[in-house]
Amino acid sequence: MTLLSVEGLRVEFPTDEGPVEAVDGVDFTVDRGEVVCLVGETGSGKTAACEALTRIADGAAVDGSVRFDGRELTDCDDRTLRSVRGDRIAHVFQQPGTSLDPVYSVGDQIIEAIRLHDDASRNEARARAVSLLEDVGIAAPAERIDAYPHQLSGGMRQRVAIAVALAADPDLLVADEPTTALDVTLQAGLLELLRELSAERDLAVLLVTHDLGVVAELADRVVVLYGGRVMERGGVETLFERPAHPYTRLLFESLRGTADGSDDRPTPADDGCPFRSECPYAVPDCAEGRPSFHAADDEPAHEVACVFYGPDYDIGTLGGEGS
Ligand code: SF4
Repeated sequence: MTLLSVEGLRVEFPTDEGPVEAVDGVDFTVDRGEVVCLVGETGSGKTAACEALTRIADGAAVDGSVRFDGRELTDCDDRTLRSVRGDRIAHVFQQPGTSLDPVYSVGDQIIEAIRLHDDASRNEARARAVSLLEDVGIAAPAERIDAYPHQLSGGMRQRVAIAVALAADPDLLVADEPTTALDVTLQAGLLELLRELSAERDLAVLLVTHDLGVVAELADRVVVLYGGRVMERGGVETLFERPAHPYTRLLFESLRGTADGSDDRPTPADDGCPFRSECPYAVPDCAEGRPSFHAADDEPAHEVACVFYGPDYDIGTLGGEGS
């Protein structure tokens, strides 16, 4: 069942040189209990799209539709939005320390999060906080609950941040590069934890990452972004086996280290297909408005925004595994 449906999402940030469009008409959905990964390089709009869901980015102008559990969020009042934020949609950020307050014990922070969304007594909330710490894999939670963030390792702080996010029993966890700051062993443990939590709690997870290992480990579906737009979307196995969009292929090759992933690349084109300034297959039609989504293959949910998958072109021209 669809929990989150995002359609035509646009996000603009004011700058001294005028507004900059970070997200330019993005569509995707997340079902209950599903893990969807937003994948793309820096500046692709994945973080801006996530922050726009509950309008947590300062100064951003948000347009389009964000329907969460049947309720439109883009035009709801601040009170409604506050009740959704944290209560139904929780965020976990890249740096484990970002969302934790260094002057309060981790227990106090989880207890406060529980009591913000529930009228539990302090003792009840403390018992639940211990249980949450146990759920996120903190050893000796009854003792660790009184620790301060600086007394915990980076991996433990990120687990505590997840415990705070889960305190209100949300339906959707939005996690922005949650494992990037951790070493490989801690990353693996945290990914396993997110997978377990999703399955046990029927928790939907929207995960922002540029790490294909994370995608392969966790995702049910993948949405590939470039220049603030969706280039391709589909099931994780399909995308890994048959990446169809020329940008997805380049991204996968560069992230795997088999292609040049240097920063010295053209910026996305403002009109037409944003990838056309570096696409080896670009034809004049690629500059004529935004390419529509077309089926990439027989897989119903595998769609690609590229003119070569439309009726006027032969996808054999693109070569590679996706054609
Ligand atoms: S629409 Fe054109 S420029 Fe964009 S990926 Fe397809 S062929 Fe390349």
